Amino acid sequence: MAYIILMGPPGAGKGTQAKLLQERLGIPQVSTGDLFRYNLKNNTELGKLAKSYMEAGELVPDEVTVAMVRDRLAQDDAQAGALLDGFPRSPAQADALSELLSELGGSVNHVLVIEVDQEELIQRLLKRAELEGRKDDNEETIRTRMRVYKESTAPLIAYYEERGNVTHIDGQESIEEVNSKLVEAIESH
Ligand code: ADP
Repeated sequence: MAYIILMGPPGAGKGTQAKLLQERLGIPQVSTGDLFRYNLKNNTELGKLAKSYMEAGELVPDEVTVAMVRDRLAQDDAQAGALLDGFPRSPAQADALSELLSELGGSVNHVLVIEVDQEELIQRLLKRAELEGRKDDNEETIRTRMRVYKESTAPLIAYYEERGNVTHIDGQESIEEVNSKLVEAIESH
């Protein structure tokens, strides 16, 4: 079993890298952002609950998010582990995750932090807004998401550093370069 957390600010490339890694490692990407967007698009109860938070760039309440992750990790394709992208995002979510994984007989094996300069992030997200039209890729919401990352998510790096297994990766190199560094970090533990 391998549970790997991909961490990093909005626009760092977590989703891109998770998609590449899932094939290589044979465990699925579990992206809370993608799961919420799927629910939003299909207008489910969960989607309705998450909508206002997502559009504002704020965190969806923990009980909603944790329940969604619990369901996802119970599915057949996640029995050998998962690449967690966008979860956990707060200390409370990190506690919930370790409880959840211990119920499943696993634990967090690696925490990979992808690092990119603030300026570069904003450029990437504004470009993505043009290409994909994600509603939360506008300047005001981007600013909120960056603040939420700094306040709620970045402190988690220290939380996991105390427990070991954290690797910092420079996310400003090419996609292939970043990918091979991530693979190297995973394989060297
Ligand atoms: P980003 O590019 O900002 O990292 P994501 O696609 O991961 O964006 O998430 C988009 C939005 O979905 C977030 O701004 C938030 O509203 C919601 N979301 C995603 N993951 C979580 C989470 N773990 N806890 C709470 N809300 C979340």
